[in-house]
Amino acid sequence: MSNSNQFDAIVIGSGIGGLTVAALLSKLNQKKVLILEQHYVVGGYTHEFARKNKFNWDVGLHYVGEMGKGDLGRKIFDYLSDGNLKWNKMPEPFEQFVYPDFSFGQSCDPTQFKADLIEKFPQEKRGIENYFSDIDILAKTQVIPVVLRTAIAFFYPRLRNINRLTIKEYLDRHFQAPQLKALLASIWGTYGLPPAQGSFTIHATIASHFLKGGYYPVGGALEIAKNILPLIEKNGGKALTQKQVTEIIIEDGIAKGVKVQKAHKPDAAIEEYYAPIVISDAGAFNTYTKLIPADNDLVANYREEIKRFPKGNSALTLFLGLKESPAKLGFKGENHWIYSAYDHDRAFQKQSAAPDKAIDYCYMSFASLKDTTQTAHTAQILLFVDYEFFSKWQEQNWRHREEEYYRLKEAIAQNILNFVESRYPGFKDLVEYYELSTPLTFAYFDASDRGAIYGIPCVPERVGKNGSVLKLPLKIFI
Ligand SMILES: Cc1cc2nc3c(=O)[nH]c(=O)nc-3n(C[C@H](O)[C@H](O)[C@H](O)COP(=O)(O)OP(=O)(O)OC[C@H]3O[C@@H](n4cnc5c(N)ncnc54)[C@H](O)[C@@H]3O)c2cc1C
Repeated sequence: MSNSNQFDAIVIGSGIGGLTVAALLSKLNQKKVLILEQHYVVGGYTHEFARKNKFNWDVGLHYVGEMGKGDLGRKIFDYLSDGNLKWNKMPEPFEQFVYPDFSFGQSCDPTQFKADLIEKFPQEKRGIENYFSDIDILAKTQVIPVVLRTAIAFFYPRLRNINRLTIKEYLDRHFQAPQLKALLASIWGTYGLPPAQGSFTIHATIASHFLKGGYYPVGGALEIAKNILPLIEKNGGKALTQKQVTEIIIEDGIAKGVKVQKAHKPDAAIEEYYAPIVISDAGAFNTYTKLIPADNDLVANYREEIKRFPKGNSALTLFLGLKESPAKLGFKGENHWIYSAYDHDRAFQKQSAAPDKAIDYCYMSFASLKDTTQTAHTAQILLFVDYEFFSKWQEQNWRHREEEYYRLKEAIAQNILNFVESRYPGFKDLVEYYELSTPLTFAYFDASDRGAIYGIPCVPERVGKNGSVLKLPLKIFI
């Protein structure tokens, strides 16, 4: 065994989960950590890509909550980056929910947000107040020990009745106005499931996370990996790219290392790296069904459970390079959630199955307005789609797929642009460059199962009887 292949710990995948654990092992325990990443850049969904030497886009990060001074999230990032990662606060309001007959801006002050909702829906005051305390308590119960969670459930019996509901079930029980129900569920894209399918507990954790507004990293999402990697390198660790882990080597029930091959090159030579600690950030599905050898009985139950579990949704992203600042049309850097009706479930079903037909909703964000260090203006538009719609091209290589795939992409891109133009006249004139990514893009670059952008879906079955969303282990430590 070569010394250069021996480490104190190996982390599979360089997403924020992998970077975080690697940095903690390095900073807290002085471990020499090897990160193995199948993509040719580090960062997972926090990486960026560029076109035309001037447009840069994040592939997966639009905003993060709890990054104000003193917030827990900020303290964690300060620790992980030795205080070098800086954050810009998004404008007020930071969310704009756009419906055909009304538009609502969510304030980054939770008291104001609540007051605005009550002002618009005074007859629903009681339900709105309960909603705020419910999301607060559900979010808090995710980060406390089981004993405390049980105690809270005793003193707050409402919890037992709501923690395994879908969002729709919760909203239907507590509200009358269709506008209000739609409004409160407007951020369903942040967890990828519309109200009739998504877990209210998971909605609560994310809605609560963003109550004090959104933040964006100064310099863009790639700054995250750039500022965390030095901590890992300080103790002799490193991140290697284009290294796809094909198997976790397990002997006598204990992980000893990993087998690695150049990504997307099935004939490439196999290398081996060794460490007494192996941690997977490659997602639960990949880890249990692909990386742990099939004859390993230790995780047989999890493997079967994950295989049986519903599949997560994939998405389309339209990356736009703009000729001029979108501020010209009044955008300030807030998110825009544009909906053509109140029924999110119907829009999701319709659009997922036929994205080449009319567009019914989308999420839009402007990185260049959130971060003034960007050299050119950009925008991103995201919507959800069924992987099956694109699966017939899955065996063809990136950038070498048949013409029909590119024709379809072009038609979808035009539909999306027309949809946004119908809400914001003049938008299309701003566009200099566009490129659409599909579920195949997510599957190829992130190695995610069927391009499921959030991994295992956020359905109520994810929530255990005790209210914890960690029923399925999302990362394993062997
Ligand atoms: C389009 C989109 C928009 C999003 N917007 C936001 C947002 O605005 N705010 C927010 O907070 N979150 C957002 N998210 C979610 C957030 O980006 C993710 O939750 C987070 O980045 C996931 O980090 P991770 O480390 O768990 O996984 P990933 O970032 O998925 O990292 C996993 C890494 O493992 C690698 N890998 C997989 N298999 C192997 C293997 N066998 N060998 C080696 N490497 C492997 C992958 O290439 C990848 O780099 C968004 C996600 C997407 C896709």
